[in-house]
Amino acid sequence: MQDPFKNIKNDFPIFNQSAENNIIYMDNAATTQKPTAVLDAMSNYYSSCNSNVFRAIHRWGEESTREYEKARRQIAGFINAKESCEVIFTSGTTDGINLVASSFCRKHTSPGDEIILTEMEHHSNIVPWQIASEQYDLSLKYVSVTDRGELDRESLSRLWSKKTKLLALTHMSNVLGTINPVKAIIQEAHSHGIPVLLDGAQSVPHLPVDVQDLDCDFLAFSGHKMCAPTGIGVLYGKKQFLQELPPCKGGGEMIRNVYPDHSEWNSLPHKFEAGTPHIAGAIGLGAAVTYLNRIGMDTIQKKEHELTAILLGGLQDIPGIDIYGKAEKRGGIVCFTREGTHSHDLAQYMDSRGIALRAGHHCAHILARELEAGDFLI
Ligand code: PLP
Repeated sequence: MQDPFKNIKNDFPIFNQSAENNIIYMDNAATTQKPTAVLDAMSNYYSSCNSNVFRAIHRWGEESTREYEKARRQIAGFINAKESCEVIFTSGTTDGINLVASSFCRKHTSPGDEIILTEMEHHSNIVPWQIASEQYDLSLKYVSVTDRGELDRESLSRLWSKKTKLLALTHMSNVLGTINPVKAIIQEAHSHGIPVLLDGAQSVPHLPVDVQDLDCDFLAFSGHKMCAPTGIGVLYGKKQFLQELPPCKGGGEMIRNVYPDHSEWNSLPHKFEAGTPHIAGAIGLGAAVTYLNRIGMDTIQKKEHELTAILLGGLQDIPGIDIYGKAEKRGGIVCFTREGTHSHDLAQYMDSRGIALRAGHHCAHILARELEAGDFLI
């Protein structure tokens, strides 16, 4: 069988630039580059049928709506959602988590209730809960992280209480690369009657994710981290949850009827998609999952595993490098510090050598503080 990675850079026009403008791009956890298949799908939409969705009777409007809904079905298939109405288009992971934090806490919490998070969360899975906890008088509990960079399951087991209303955790750490044993954790949460939100920003692009197999109640992820454009993402939710949650944004298309003093909500998924959506973005995300599926998520995970082993092996041989995160199950994110060197200086030096790295606190203040690494993380 042909190696799907042999000429893969040719799929990405950004790498076909002159040598002096080209870089070795290793900042994929922040955002990925876009293949021609995605750029063409978006350009084709704009140049063949660009129109608003759900409201036009003319042929371009109908074609746009068909393409937009086809993308929803492609994405539902990609994560194995039972029904495509469980796929809500958002602007990204942050937007999806904010939706749940706002709507779920409004519907399901009372003052004094508790939400469980972990110390390895990205700020996107912390701050929305802080805002909701201030609004609804909730408290936040944090699962601690072990020295190996894994979740401390015993600390989780001590946090369950009658006041716990939801557990929100990352599937793969954007700092440590740790892949959390979310299936077992979800089973544990469900045994306490607690629903679980997964932050899939780093997992959905890099490994097969099956929402029915995991049995997660919500899953948020971003298109731009999986070869699709910025400004588009997905919130998956089990139908039963999404049906009972109130919308958090009001506007066109999310209503069935509007009266002077109240409105009636539209059915799923439209209830959560107020206003004109990012139609080209959704079509681009549909094309991105088709592109990733063609390679195969198992194949992608296996390749990343091989590349990560090479990188870790090489880094270990460099004096003064401290690698963070030694989890048994891990993805391709590798994080380190260099003794006596600020991460920004190192990243600038690497850029001068044509290599793009991420440097700083990685949007994870709580974890960076826990690792005593501050802004020194690469
Ligand atoms: N969660 C994790 C684990 C992430 O790595 C990121 C982005 O790096 C986010 C959430 C936020 O994603 P976005 O900025 O696309 O909403």
